[in-house]
Amino acid sequence: MNSYDVIIIGAGTWGGSTAWHLAERGRRVLAIDAFRPPHEHGSHGGATRLVRQSNSTGPEYVELTRQAFELWDRIAARTGEQVMIETGNVFVGAPGSRWFDNTLANLAASPFEHEVFQTAEARSRFPRLRIGDGELAVWEPRGSVGQVPAALRAMQQLAREAGAEFRFDEPVVDWSADESGVTVRTEQGTYRAEQLVVTAGAFSTTLLGLDLPTSVERQVLANFAVDPGAPRLPSMYFAAPPGDDSAPSYGCPEPDGTFKFSVVGKGDVIEPQDLSQDVTSADLDRVLAVLRDRVPEITGEPLRTTVCMWTEATDGHWLIGRYPDSERVTYAAACNGRGFRYAPVVGQVLADLSEGITRPDLALFESTRFEITPVTA
Ligand SMILES: Cc1cc2nc3c(=O)[nH]c(=O)nc-3n(C[C@H](O)[C@H](O)[C@H](O)COP(=O)(O)OP(=O)(O)OC[C@H]3O[C@@H](n4cnc5c(N)ncnc54)[C@H](O)[C@@H]3O)c2cc1C
Repeated sequence: MNSYDVIIIGAGTWGGSTAWHLAERGRRVLAIDAFRPPHEHGSHGGATRLVRQSNSTGPEYVELTRQAFELWDRIAARTGEQVMIETGNVFVGAPGSRWFDNTLANLAASPFEHEVFQTAEARSRFPRLRIGDGELAVWEPRGSVGQVPAALRAMQQLAREAGAEFRFDEPVVDWSADESGVTVRTEQGTYRAEQLVVTAGAFSTTLLGLDLPTSVERQVLANFAVDPGAPRLPSMYFAAPPGDDSAPSYGCPEPDGTFKFSVVGKGDVIEPQDLSQDVTSADLDRVLAVLRDRVPEITGEPLRTTVCMWTEATDGHWLIGRYPDSERVTYAAACNGRGFRYAPVVGQVLADLSEGITRPDLALFESTRFEITPVTA
């Protein structure tokens, strides 16, 4: 039986990064995935992710963002992959809107370059967007568009160069931990290691067998044609009005010259194995209603759609920690729709935890903030 220092179940965004960090620390790593990342069966489907420096969630994310930008730059320099395209990012919203106010507060307490425009100024600076009465715009020049396939490829490349093995199209069927290590069984084989890291995204509850305080939400992305002669649009967010706590709608230019737009679906809870690429006219109507209003120059129908899923924790923060009462199993779950841009840092944290290095600076994400117990059959 093949034996490793660490086995990673789920070699997607967070798992690929974890494999890279652990392999570079000299660990013998096996990363196993049910599919061949990048793919459209999980949380990283589609070509791009918005990578802004601001956040709407808490000051704890500021330092993580700084580290993530540094690591993405390093990944790009070492692999030659264009993992980020710097488009700048504009966030439009009215004071009193929770997501917008948090964004301003977190930016103000950060080292990140940004400008805040009042309504009239915002309209003249961003004439292609509809900015409502009383709304402001925040501009971040280093806001970028993450290139999902290139980023996943680059992290896999660095991991492989450092000796990590990847096994793709090999679903894990079960795993167990005992006093001397962990055993992972797939449809093709059985593997042993000292440590296990589970980064299975939307499939975490099933794979871990834990009652995680999470739900998996279906999200629809739609791509539209833009005038090829017009300057490239920046990436953008539109906050919901004050009193509406929905996450902002967002869009960004994609590498094929189209523009991606999404209106965050709240409460569209699914079982991860039921994810399908089918979209309904109601899905498209929701996207079109906001897009037509906010970016009036985009008038066509969607050229294509992608359906993706993310996992929300009840308090909106990642769940990172040890399997209850285990010294051998570490996991990260609940990306909350903002796990791509932090992937290089999350992988580093998981590498630390699996090596017994504690991270008191990341208490906000520690899974022990909830009482999480194994699900008994
Ligand atoms: C529509 C949408 C938009 C988003 N927008 C943004 C954004 O703009 N900015 C941002 O930062 N983040 C964004 N996110 C979040 C970001 O994409 C995710 O946080 C990130 O991809 C999470 O990665 P992950 O590693 O948790 O999951 P994944 O990348 O899905 O990886 C999990 C892996 O586990 C594998 N797996 C599952 N079960 C098994 C099994 N039994 N055996 C083996 N392997 C298994 C899967 O195949 C998968 O490859 C968005 C997410 C969605 C869905």
